[in-house]
Amino acid sequence: MPTAKFLHGPLWLLAELTYLCPLQCAYCSNPLDFSKYRNELNTDEWLSVLRQAREMGAAQLGFSGGEPLVRRDLETLVSHARELGFIPTF
Ligand code: SF4
Repeated sequence: MPTAKFLHGPLWLLAELTYLCPLQCAYCSNPLDFSKYRNELNTDEWLSVLRQAREMGAAQLGFSGGEPLVRRDLETLVSHARELGFIPTF
C-alpha cells in the first residue's frame, strides 16, 4: 500500500502578491480600501520567499491577489520561479 512518508513540507505555495484589483466582485474577500494597505512585499522579499519555499520542497506555485497582473515585477517573479523549477499558475 502506498504511503505518504516521502511527503514533507509544503508542496504548493499560493503567493498573494497584492490586494489591488480593477474589478469589484461582490463576493470578493480582499479589502477594497487599498490605500490603507501599503505593506506588500517588495520584489526582493518575494524572490526570497520563492527561494525559501522551493528549499522546503514546494513544487507548484500559484500567483494570486487581488489581481497579480497589476504587479510591475510579475515578469521577474515568474521568471525566477521558472528558474527555481516551480510550476507557476495564475
Ligand atoms: S480579487 Fe478576485 S474576487 Fe476580488 S474583485 Fe478582483 S477578481 Fe474579483
